[in-house]
Amino acid sequence: MRCSCKECGVYMVQAEAPHLGCVCPECFYRCTDCLGTDTVVSRESLAALAFDPRFQPENLAQSFLSEEDEDG
Ligand SMILES: [Zn+2]
Ligand SMILES: [Zn+2]
Repeated sequence: MRCSCKECGVYMVQAEAPHLGCVCPECFYRCTDCLGTDTVVSRESLAALAFDPRFQPENLAQSFLSEEDEDG
């Protein structure tokens, strides 16, 4: 993936290591936008999961309890 610098608009080049993204040859702005979308789960995605009520331990326990109540 090739990115253009947000500051200068010039094409950025790959940084010295793939996980570092790319770097602008003009201002040395470092881009990480091209990273993480298909390799690791982003911190934002993890936070979104944590805030999802369905993933709260209490609610998971509640759903199990209510199912048992229906049987009894
Ligand atoms: Zn730049
Ligand atoms: Zn990039």
